[in-house]
Amino acid sequence: MNNFIEKDLSLENCPALVLNADYRPLSYYPLSLWSWQDTVKSVFLERVVIVSNYDRIVRSPSFNMQLPSVIALKDYIIPQSKPSFTRFNVFLRDKFSCQYCGSREELTFDHLLPRSKGGETHWDNVVTACSSCNVKKGGKLLRSSGMKLTQLPYQPSTEDLHRNGKNFPPNYLHKSWMDYLYWDVELQA
Ligand SMILES: [Zn+2]
Repeated sequence: MNNFIEKDLSLENCPALVLNADYRPLSYYPLSLWSWQDTVKSVFLERVVIVSNYDRIVRSPSFNMQLPSVIALKDYIIPQSKPSFTRFNVFLRDKFSCQYCGSREELTFDHLLPRSKGGETHWDNVVTACSSCNVKKGGKLLRSSGMKLTQLPYQPSTEDLHRNGKNFPPNYLHKSWMDYLYWDVELQA
């Protein structure tokens, strides 16, 4: 497996989009991508179906193969129903906008019930806030701050994050991935 010869562009820039057995991406955040090496290996181990290919060929002394750009797992993996509580996922739930003023600049987090008053760091008490709203609210309770929330914080489902995630695609998307990432958006258009 170590004798592949590069043709033109770097193979490192040719990851495969990995779909679950239902042909939906295994994950959006981070987008499920495998390196070309892992992809080729999984094809040889017959763990995946090749859905689409790059317009390039990898060669070794014993075989040539078109490089997959989209693969689907043969065995369905049950997605996590509760996404993990991470900074990124909180931003994603709140669509990368301050929950007080809507700004998308200098985002940070605000504890609805301030930590100084016993507020915990979990889904129900943390909202995305721009730094000036964060400073403005400071250690105050919401009702005495004179500020309004766009929505109350909540524990999102994986579906919620998928839905929001479609508005924030990663920087690089190969054209063969689009059918699997955004098909439902296109249907609504
Ligand atoms: Zn703000």
